[in-house]
Amino acid sequence: METFYSVDPLSDRYRICPNCKIAHMVHNRGRDFCTDKCADDYYNTHRRLTRQATNVPPLANTSLITRDQMLAKNLNVLNHLSIDETFGTKYLITDIVNSGFDFSFHTSRNVLHNTDFDNQCFYISIFEYKILLLTTAEILIAKNK
Ligand SMILES: [Zn+2]
Repeated sequence: METFYSVDPLSDRYRICPNCKIAHMVHNRGRDFCTDKCADDYYNTHRRLTRQATNVPPLANTSLITRDQMLAKNLNVLNHLSIDETFGTKYLITDIVNSGFDFSFHTSRNVLHNTDFDNQCFYISIFEYKILLLTTAEILIAKNK
C-alpha cells in the first residue's frame, strides 16, 4: 500500500515537476517528476530542443566573421576573372552572382563624378577592384592600376 504525503514545501520530498510544474511530494527522493509520463515527455522535448539547437550556428560567431569572410569570398571570385587591364571587362550580373559573389559586401561605395547629379551613378570597390553597373544586367569590372 502506497503512502501519501500532503504537499509540504518544507519537506525534502517536496518537488515541482519539471514538466508540468505541479507541486507534488515524491516517494523516491531521487526523483523530481510527478509521473513517468511527465519524465518521458520532458526528456523527449529536451532532447528535441537540444538536437535543434546543435543545427543552428552560434549567432555571435557568424555575425563577427561574416563581413570579412564575404569580402574574401568576393575577392576570390574577382581574382578568378580575366579582366582587361586597360578598359576593364563586362560581365553579366547573374554569372557573377552564380559564382558566389554578393554585391552587399564591398569595401566602399562611391559616386561616379562624370554623371550628372540627378542621374548619379555609383561604383563599388572591393579592394583593388571597381565594379560599375552598366545596365540592369551587366557590370563592368576594372582593376585599379
Ligand atoms: Zn508532472
